[in-house]
Amino acid sequence: HLKDKVALVTGSTSGIGLGMARAMAGAGAHLVLNGFGDAVAIEKLRADLAAEFGVEVRYSAADMTREDEIAAMIGDVEKEFGAVDVLVNNAGVQHVAPIDEFPIDKWNLIIALNLSAAFHAIRLALPAMRRKGWGRIISTASAHALVASPFKVAYVAAKHGIAGVTKTVALETAEHGITVNAICPGYVWTPLVEKQIPATAVARGMTEEQVKKDVILAAQPTKEFVKVEEVAALALFLTTEAARSITGSLQSIDGGWTAA
Ligand code: NAD
Repeated sequence: HLKDKVALVTGSTSGIGLGMARAMAGAGAHLVLNGFGDAVAIEKLRADLAAEFGVEVRYSAADMTREDEIAAMIGDVEKEFGAVDVLVNNAGVQHVAPIDEFPIDKWNLIIALNLSAAFHAIRLALPAMRRKGWGRIISTASAHALVASPFKVAYVAAKHGIAGVTKTVALETAEHGITVNAICPGYVWTPLVEKQIPATAVARGMTEEQVKKDVILAAQPTKEFVKVEEVAALALFLTTEAARSITGSLQSIDGGWTAA
């Protein structure tokens, strides 16, 4: 259902974003990948996706903390394809520390990447979506858009902020064939989660194994990680016509975490 449409997925060189990009390409969308990583590996990923799905795949190295690079990326996509039809705001990082020890540069980075980047990408991509009368904006928020955990002040603040951006823009676009939603995953096993385990162990005075079992999986009643493919399938559904009335929503996919 996405044939001849273009999906730009930020932070799609890894983890959830890559899964979402694969799902969009599987439905026929041309892709714009974005994110950091080894240049040779990214070029291979780009070529492999193009070959596997028979779609155009471009890569933008834009640093999503930089407004000028976001503007250049969206401008390039519009020059080549006309519009970003599906915008997925997904790039994000985490940092775990108590607030009184929280490094100010990490606060600034997380607010810029996990929150302001979505503001910039949305405001820049929206005019072309409005002209086409169709668009899908999806942000990877988190269960941390709905509830907090200690030692994640910047992340929780940014993800709660994304919930506000989502609801506001949904109201501003409701009559234009554009939907705006956020997906709120619980813990998904990706490099982002793996990397926070040592710091969480230090902050909580636990071993890394205890963190996995007693902190991470304890939050999820299912006692299982959510899978990348499950989050991607939900994102893909939000791009369908069947989902045209779903807008301004926060879609939990968290193994029951926020029900507790
Ligand atoms: P990941 O580390 O696998 O992927 C993060 C992606 O963002 C990578 O492609 C990375 O290169 C990119 N990135 C980092 N800094 C960037 C920058 N400045 N500019 C552009 N790209 C940048 O992590 P993930 O778990 O797949 O996370 C993706 C999103 O999902 C994040 O927003 C994260 O907060 C959210 N999320 C993850 C989980 C989880 O449990 N893994 C749960 C809820 C929400």
